[in-house]
Amino acid sequence: MKMNLPRAAQYALRVLRNAGHQAYIVGGSVRDVLLGKQPDDYDITTSALPEEVIALFKRDKLVLNGLKHGTVRLIKYAMPIEITTFCLNGAGEDDDADDVIFTGSLYEDVQRRDITINALCWSEEAGLIDYVGGQEDLDNRLIRCVGEPNGRFREDPLRILRALRFSATLDFDIDPPTARAIRDNRLLLSELPAERVLMELKKLLCGPRAEALLVEYRDVFGVMLPETAALSGDQYLLAARRLSLIAPAPELRLAALLLDLPREAANECAARIKCSKLTRKFLDGVFEHANEDLPIDRVGMRRALGAYGDELLAGLVELRAAHIRALTHMVIQQNDCVSVKQLALTAEDVFRLGVTRRGSAACLRGLLERVISGELPNTREALSDAVRAGVEARL
Ligand code: ATP
Ligand code: MG
Repeated sequence: MKMNLPRAAQYALRVLRNAGHQAYIVGGSVRDVLLGKQPDDYDITTSALPEEVIALFKRDKLVLNGLKHGTVRLIKYAMPIEITTFCLNGAGEDDDADDVIFTGSLYEDVQRRDITINALCWSEEAGLIDYVGGQEDLDNRLIRCVGEPNGRFREDPLRILRALRFSATLDFDIDPPTARAIRDNRLLLSELPAERVLMELKKLLCGPRAEALLVEYRDVFGVMLPETAALSGDQYLLAARRLSLIAPAPELRLAALLLDLPREAANECAARIKCSKLTRKFLDGVFEHANEDLPIDRVGMRRALGAYGDELLAGLVELRAAHIRALTHMVIQQNDCVSVKQLALTAEDVFRLGVTRRGSAACLRGLLERVISGELPNTREALSDAVRAGVEARL
């Protein structure tokens, strides 16, 4: 396998290796290259200790706020490269985690990573190094924990959310044992700092598989978004579908998900997950105005823009469109009765129940209206009872 590394990553690998250390590209960048995507950033894993890394790059710009986790961030040619010392724990775990334990073994470093497709390493000399079957999982489009999922989730419950996040964004299936452990350990999610959850949740909700995961793992999402428990099954399906039909921007997707909650609960939810002030303001604007008429002429547009501002108005328009499309989908998919021919009774049936031939069309239209409005279920029994009652009332 060939990786076309940016100059900054080539430089970092070269400096580390020339000093006699092991150094590999690891994690998301290897995964992305194998998926044919341009990586956003590059991580390097190395046998060099943090102080050795600092000394080797002392002439370069370094950011040291990840030092606790064994990470030195090198900024070279305007590109950040994260250089982390091989360790047994660390990356990702929260700031209260015990001190990281360094190791000289790449194999051990790989074992602490979250999912197999994030545990691939690469170097020019060694090519791809895959200790955990990550390449096969990439080929099979599968999210699978490195190691035993329950133990890994207990060590760091954020991995539960990361597994869901990568399934959502890459549109990968989740391996059944990992899926079971996600569900079994879901309550651990409530122990995580909100900031860590929000970062993953925002990415997850913007992924192409977000709708399916929200539905399949409703109980898991319910731990992070308990207010959504107030939604009925259909309301929740509608919210998830609406979310999938709106542009993949975190604020819009959150708005789409929470829109049908009472305004106070929706705002509470946004506060619980620690959305930024700006996002909360946007969301509250959406929740406040979501049911108002949208402008369809120029005068109305002037008024609306004056009242809402362009960002909120654009959000309201997007949400309305997504809402209508989600509703259309739901009515069609659940085969709701929308026409006389879908009624559980025919003209012949109502005639047999005592309605005249001339009156049968009007009778069916009346029944249709009551079925559409939800007053009657579209069953033979309910409709027959209603017809009989009508016939009797006319006698
Ligand atoms: P992205 O494209 O979102 O940046 P990434 O895989 O690079 O994806 P990062 O959050 O940047 O994700 O983490 C870098 C690497 O560190 C991951 O690929 C994974 O190997 C490891 N990692 C990150 N978080 C955790 C965690 N909570 N537990 C175990 N390993 C983790
Ligand atoms: Mg990354």
